[in-house]
Amino acid sequence: MDLEAARARLIEHLGQEIKDKRVLKAMARIPRELFVLQDYYYAAYEDRPLPIGFGQTISQPFIVALMTEALELKADDKVLELGTGSGYQAAILAELVKRVITVERIPQLAESARKVLEKLGYSNVEVHIAGKTLGWVCEAPYDGIIVTAAAPCVPEALLEQLAIGGCLVIPVGSRWQQELLKVTRLKKKNRIENLGGCRFVPLVGEGAWEE
Ligand code: SAH
Repeated sequence: MDLEAARARLIEHLGQEIKDKRVLKAMARIPRELFVLQDYYYAAYEDRPLPIGFGQTISQPFIVALMTEALELKADDKVLELGTGSGYQAAILAELVKRVITVERIPQLAESARKVLEKLGYSNVEVHIAGKTLGWVCEAPYDGIIVTAAAPCVPEALLEQLAIGGCLVIPVGSRWQQELLKVTRLKKKNRIENLGGCRFVPLVGEGAWEE
């Protein structure tokens, strides 16, 4: 199977909706097959989520691109990701910004993501195992925060870790169905935009869902 050709076709397909060329270029560089289970190599460039073990999934490439574009990242930014999972989204962020802090609840996933990211040479990503508080407070504030698991509401704890002017992109809704929200932190009233329906695995922890 020609994975490179499949990747090029996927990026072309994403380009019909995603206008940020930097995001498309980053995705064109990253071998998604390294972030999925071997049984799913064949599907690595289909535009759908895939299982990564422990009941979790690597997100659909279109949603990855949409969320990354929504963050409006700059090369000098420091970004926080909640839900490292396979590490694929973290790799894309690492292509685009100076520093990526990514946090994962399941230690085995954190460890395998760390290994792949290291193998691919990303020295600007730090993978941490989630603590009790949502996010990673000691490195705050962040220029952008991306949550790749579904929350019941916009967690106050994460807004507090966001710089003024920064964006938080997060799926919010029920355990089964959510809306993708982009919250821009402003001095007075935050701006909230709805980017459309989506479906993510639950964000687990204080201020989110019970396991
Ligand atoms: N971004 C990932 C996909 C993430 S799936 C990728 O590119 O592959 C969502 C992940 O969020 C799961 O691995 C799950 O364990 C993790 N998660 C759930 N609650 C969390 C929390 N409170 N903090 C950090 N990670 C969490």
